[in-house]
Amino acid sequence: MNNDLRRMDIQYLTGVGPKRAELLRKELGIATFHDLIYYFPFRYVDRSTIHHINEIDGDMPYIQLRGRFVTFNAVGEGAKRRLQALFTDGTGTIEVVWFNRVRSIQETYRTGVEYLLFGKPSLFQNHYNIVHPEVDVYKPETAPQGLQGVYSLTEKLLNRQITTRTMQRLVGNLIKTPAVQQVAETLPRQLLAQRNLMPLSQALVNMHTPASIRDLQRAQFRMKYEELFFLQLNILKYIKGREERRVGFVFAHVGDCFNNFYNHVLAFPLTGAQKRVIREMRCDMGSGRQMNRLLQGDVGSGKTIVAFMTTLIALDNGYQACIMAPTEILATQHHETISEMASKIGVSVALLTGSTRKSERERIHQQLLSGELQILIGTHALIEDVVQFRNLGLAVIDEQHRFGVAQRAKLWRKNSTPPHVLVMTATPIPRTLAMTVYGDLDVSVIDELPPGRKPVTTIMRYDKDREAMYHFVGQQLRQGRQAYIVYPLIEENEKLDLRALEEGFEIVQETFPSYRVAMVHGRMKPAEKDHQMELFASHQAHILVATTVIEVGVNVPNASVMVIENAERFGLSQLHQLRGRVGRGADQSYCILMTKYQLSAETRHRLEVMTQTNDGFRVAEEDMKLRGPGDMDGTQQSGVAFNLRVANLAQDGQIVQLTRDDAQAYLDHDPDLATPEGQQLDRHLRTIFDKQQSWSEIS
Ligand code: ADP
Ligand code: MG
Repeated sequence: MNNDLRRMDIQYLTGVGPKRAELLRKELGIATFHDLIYYFPFRYVDRSTIHHINEIDGDMPYIQLRGRFVTFNAVGEGAKRRLQALFTDGTGTIEVVWFNRVRSIQETYRTGVEYLLFGKPSLFQNHYNIVHPEVDVYKPETAPQGLQGVYSLTEKLLNRQITTRTMQRLVGNLIKTPAVQQVAETLPRQLLAQRNLMPLSQALVNMHTPASIRDLQRAQFRMKYEELFFLQLNILKYIKGREERRVGFVFAHVGDCFNNFYNHVLAFPLTGAQKRVIREMRCDMGSGRQMNRLLQGDVGSGKTIVAFMTTLIALDNGYQACIMAPTEILATQHHETISEMASKIGVSVALLTGSTRKSERERIHQQLLSGELQILIGTHALIEDVVQFRNLGLAVIDEQHRFGVAQRAKLWRKNSTPPHVLVMTATPIPRTLAMTVYGDLDVSVIDELPPGRKPVTTIMRYDKDREAMYHFVGQQLRQGRQAYIVYPLIEENEKLDLRALEEGFEIVQETFPSYRVAMVHGRMKPAEKDHQMELFASHQAHILVATTVIEVGVNVPNASVMVIENAERFGLSQLHQLRGRVGRGADQSYCILMTKYQLSAETRHRLEVMTQTNDGFRVAEEDMKLRGPGDMDGTQQSGVAFNLRVANLAQDGQIVQLTRDDAQAYLDHDPDLATPEGQQLDRHLRTIFDKQQSWSEIS
């Protein structure tokens, strides 16, 4: 039956016809009965009350007024032409304005007739007026009552007299058709009962013309539940299919490399979270299936050591491992940290980047093939076809969001059996999003920082307080600390941004004549960049003026101040990443957000979140609320289409979890969707998802 709705052409609905059908299709993508019934109002208004004009005060929602027009006046010429009317209900008068359709409105409405006016009062030059209200002749018996939907429409539709009122009439006609009244239920009966869900036919009606707020809420819950249930069912089905297919190396034992390192080299006790995550990965890699795990951990939570210890398990089972980083600086830093640890247990490590010399490169290629080289660390250079391993057992990818899915896939093909994959990211993704976006990856979280870290103190300062800020930085330098000063740089604005950075660099040099200042930005040659970074990392330079190239990974524990210039131009997760560059040593660290004086409310809120919390997950949740999940780092490449109609991943986390559990339980009792009901669900899944990107393309 549901499919019938999808096949019924909208032009045959009472009140539509070919012309309106064309408009609805072009402007709103509504081509069938199904499209219209699922075109839900974006807002609801209460039409059970009629307000008085003398009650209008402050910011009011859409309200109803009952009264008469006193005068109509067409004023202005050309584009400025408009129709002004005065409307009274005996308690006062209000101005009503139309900017288009002046002629037809003047011909339709009359003075003296009693109308019901519906619109939003706004204050204009100290008077309230209502622009483009809905107007109906008032008849007590037909006056709209209760909650009514308001539809999102385009200018073009409004010009062709398709208003919210029209939509309400069309939907009213649609609701009366047998196709809607007898629409087939899509969810399993048992879940309807268990979760007390409103049946589909009722929910569709209540989404448009709710009988009460309570009914509207139940209808919305049901529609969100349905949407997320099928999304989760699809993901789980995909994961299951994939797990059946994906064979992996069995790393059955933990041997000398791991044990020697753990017992004799590791200089500090692992945190509980680090231990748990390592256990999870041992379990994965021992299972005979390919590991595909996302490791999330806030900046400074100690992911590198976890990655290294995981590679040791691969080595203990006779396999090689590689670690891939998004930038040369990061790869080099990993190489330094890891080769130092590895040398103590006799493990061979090499670094391969774009600037590795030819002779060294050839040696690496040859030693990889012979198996002499055990761990290879590098940048994108790793995935080039010439790089062939003897037996690659594990690939670690650091700072995942810089790598595309296609690049990850290239690593797979280095063996006939794909290596285990560990993807690490410091951009925490809220759990509900992770389980949906990275449906194909298992997720581990390091939710604990190593002991003794002092939370970074974050403060906001206006440009006019710059002197005080420099004074503060000077104090830190005198205590032997180092400071970062970061400038925004975006491509569209590159020239101006670079100039601001260079000017900043000069001012900083003048302000701190007795200290050395290094500078790094993305437009420098790699060698120069490395040289400047190295000056700072080795403490020869005291201040690093930079763009966000330092955002990921760089570790200089002695740095205690992060100044972010034009902080209002950065996104939340970027600010959090930058802040993570300090607070890595034992000393109190500071993050100073420099902004201009005037900020929008949203920007102010964003920056205040930074001053209130150091918790990356909270920052990420806020970020998701502000930007919506589609814009989160990492989701663009996930391949998941975020075209949810009613549910919102940021706000409906609980329903995501609920539907995940219910979909899992359903699959537990009908794993292949083979029962008659299961088959029906499967067919429904296909109608929903077949048009969207194929899941098998993801990683
Ligand atoms: P991230 O997760 O940001 O990559 P790193 O792996 O760079 O973090 O670790 C940050 C710092 O914390 C490093 O200097 C590392 O040696 C140190 N560290 C990691 N784990 C622990 C621990 N359990 N106890 C103390 N220090 C640790
Ligand atoms: Mg790191």
